[in-house]
Amino acid sequence: MIPYFTEHFGNPSSINHQYGWEAEAAVKQTRSILAKAINASPEEIIFTSGATEANNLAIKGVSEAYFQKGQHIITVATEHNAVLDPCKYLETLGFEITILPVQKDGLINLDELEKAIRPDTILVSVMAANNEIGVIQPLAEIGKICHEHDIIFHTDAAQAIGKIPLNVQTFQIDLMSLTAHKVYGPKGIGALYVRRRNPRVKLAAQQHGGGHERGMRSGTLYTPQIVGFGKAVEIALAEQKQENRRLTQLRNKLWEPLSKIEGIHLNGHPTQRLPGNLNISIEGVDGAALLLGLQSIMAVSSGSACSSTTTAPSHVLTALGHSEKLAYASIRFGIGRFNTAEEIDTVAQQVISTIKSLQRM
Ligand SMILES: *Cc1c(COP(=O)(O)O)cnc(C)c1O
Repeated sequence: MIPYFTEHFGNPSSINHQYGWEAEAAVKQTRSILAKAINASPEEIIFTSGATEANNLAIKGVSEAYFQKGQHIITVATEHNAVLDPCKYLETLGFEITILPVQKDGLINLDELEKAIRPDTILVSVMAANNEIGVIQPLAEIGKICHEHDIIFHTDAAQAIGKIPLNVQTFQIDLMSLTAHKVYGPKGIGALYVRRRNPRVKLAAQQHGGGHERGMRSGTLYTPQIVGFGKAVEIALAEQKQENRRLTQLRNKLWEPLSKIEGIHLNGHPTQRLPGNLNISIEGVDGAALLLGLQSIMAVSSGSACSSTTTAPSHVLTALGHSEKLAYASIRFGIGRFNTAEEIDTVAQQVISTIKSLQRM
């Protein structure tokens, strides 16, 4: 990224001089990397400031472009707030939103999805992988149902890009939100994949101006961040297979001793989940005390990183059927590229002793 702050500082939209060309070439390269990662074409990638903006652009953009066809949207209870809140906003404008529940394992029921579809349904938004419990939804099956009913399928893949195989053709995805910082890229850059054919998705711009990104998202492109985004995805894809094997081993190594604790639950489907994600709930333990007890050994926070200031219990865990109390007494472990087997042993030991002392109290 650094040369694009200092040496190649041109504006990628300045197509009349060399500085602009250098920046444009760099942006083009990331577009190709992202397109290849999801089996799309480069023109179908629209850069945004992250997945929040991509979700807003997808959901509001479709609603505005298709409102004459219908005003009904289907989404899921365990979605990120960057999907749920734009939907709630649209409700205030007169759109109707169906929020599908999830099963105990965090997966949606495909029959329920099909039953929720109405003649006026214009959009289905179901995330690829959940940010709290790591559950991976059956994208190909959802895509098939959507396209059989002529409905646009959007997926928030912020947690999935670089981590699991994604293919907009075989999964029949029309819109896909991406972000760089969940795969070790820079913060503040993301993208929306917008399908151009079979079908061609129309999108009303949510930010107007210079007409960048084929008019769908105006604003000068943030070249250094875009360069970092491309590199991050390139590295993640190159390492995906062996890294997923390693992370699965580490997760099992962590879960194995924890699973023996009385009153412990694994949240989310046991296998249909991101390799680096382990989310547990412990009965009979106070959530705040648990947080305090673990703070000295690892970077723990309450809630999710984006909303750790709120004190409400996780809407994802309550959607699994957990009581508020149990939702508070939960931990999500995110195992990543730089974690080692030794760290897993240390964390397992300390978490077990913390839980056991709390249970004794
Ligand atoms: C992190 C995350 C977002 C928000 O992405 P930003 O790039 O931070 O705006 C949206 N959805 C999911 C599932 C996420 O994990």
